[in-house]
Amino acid sequence: MNYIKKNLFIEKVNATKIAAKYKTPIYCYSYNKLRKNISNLKSTFKSFKPLLCFSVKSNANIEILKEIGKLDCGADVVSLGELSMALRAGIKPKKIVFSGIGKTSNEIKFAIEKKILLINAESKSEILEIERISKNKKKKVDVGIRLNPNTDAKTLKMISTGKEENKFGVTENIFLELVDYVNNSQYLNLKCLSVHIGSQILDSRPYKKMLNVLKRVIKKSNHKFEYIDLGGGMGIQYNNEKKLNYNDYKREINFFLKNHKSKIIFEPGRSIIADTAVLISKIIYIKKTKIKNFIILDAGMNDFMRPALYGAKHKIIPLIKNQKKLKKLVEFVGPICETTDRFLSIKGFQNLAEKDLVAICDVGAYGMSLASNYNLRPKPIELLVKGNQMRVIKKKQKLSDIF
Ligand SMILES: *Cc1c(COP(=O)(O)O)cnc(C)c1O
Repeated sequence: MNYIKKNLFIEKVNATKIAAKYKTPIYCYSYNKLRKNISNLKSTFKSFKPLLCFSVKSNANIEILKEIGKLDCGADVVSLGELSMALRAGIKPKKIVFSGIGKTSNEIKFAIEKKILLINAESKSEILEIERISKNKKKKVDVGIRLNPNTDAKTLKMISTGKEENKFGVTENIFLELVDYVNNSQYLNLKCLSVHIGSQILDSRPYKKMLNVLKRVIKKSNHKFEYIDLGGGMGIQYNNEKKLNYNDYKREINFFLKNHKSKIIFEPGRSIIADTAVLISKIIYIKKTKIKNFIILDAGMNDFMRPALYGAKHKIIPLIKNQKKLKKLVEFVGPICETTDRFLSIKGFQNLAEKDLVAICDVGAYGMSLASNYNLRPKPIELLVKGNQMRVIKKKQKLSDIF
C-alpha cells in the first residue's frame, strides 16, 4: 500500500478505481503483503521450523484460507464452522488444531472423524467428553491440554486470556491431574501442551514468563510432549506502538528447546492478516458542530467492529491526498444508531468533502470475521489484489439473502 502522485494504491491498483467499480464499503486485501507476512514469520523462526496454524477466527474468508494453505500453513479453529471452512479451503487435517472452551459433542465427533492433528482440551469435563466419544468410536484420539499459565500478557484487558481470572485453559494443578488421567486412558493420546495468553502482545517479557511456567509445569508432569503449541497473539503496529521484539521471543524459545525436544506450533492470526487489508469507505455527509465535525462514513460498526468493541484505534487515510489541513477536530463515525459507532477522533486531518473516499487501515484481522447484520445492513464485499490483478473473494451480501 502506497501513494503514487497523491493516489492510494493497493499493490498496483488505484484504490479510487476500486471504489468506482464496486459499492463501498469495500474490504480490500493485498496478496503480496500476506505472502510476505508469512515468509517473515517463517524466516524469523527458521531455526526450529514451527507449524504455523493460522487462527481462522481472525479471518475466515475461504479464498484467503486457500492462499494461506498454499503458503504451507495449517489452521487453528474454534468451531465446527471454522473447521469445515478450513477443510473446504484445502487445509490438510493433519495441520489443524481445534481450540476453545465449549466444544460440543458434535464438534468433537466431527473433529475425530476428520482425523485432525490435535484437539486442545480446556477442562476436565471436555477431556471426559472426548474420551467418551473416542471410546464409542473405538479410536485413540490425539489431544492437547491448554494450560492457563497465569501470565499477564500486558495487553488490553478485554483481549487477555492467560490470567487465572480468564476462562481459558486449566490451572497448573488441574493440568497435572489431567496429564495423569490422559496417560491412563485407553482412548486418549497426550501429545500437546498448549497455551495462548492473549492478543496484540507487543512486549516479549510475558512470553518469556509463559515459557518459564511451561518449563516448571512440564518438569512436574514428567511427560514428554511431542508438540508445544504456543498460541498466537503477536502484536502489530496499528499506530506508533513499539514493535514486538521477535528476536527476544525466538531466543527464549531456543533456550526452551534445548531441554525439550518438541515441535513448536504457533497459532498466529493478527500478525499474518491484519495489515494486509483496508476498508474503503465513502463519506456520506459531514455534520458540523461547534466542537467538531462528524465525518459520516458508509462503513459502520457492523462492517468493522473493533473500535466499538474494544476502543481500538485504526489509522484512517485519504484515497486522494491534498495539501489543506483542517484545524477543527473531526470524528469519523458510521451510520449505525449507536454512540459507540465511531472510528476515530483526530485533529489536523486533511480537508474533507462529502463523497470523498477514505481507507480504514489494518482491518484484515477481526474485521470481516466480526462483521454483522446489525441495523439490517448487508455485509460488505471483499476483494483480493495481486499485482495489477483484482478479484472478488466474497460478493456483497444482498438484502434478499438476509430476508
Ligand atoms: C484468537 C486466538 C489466536 C490468535 O490470536 P492472534 O492475536 O490473532 O494471533 C490463537 N489461538 C487461540 C487459542 C485464540 O483464541
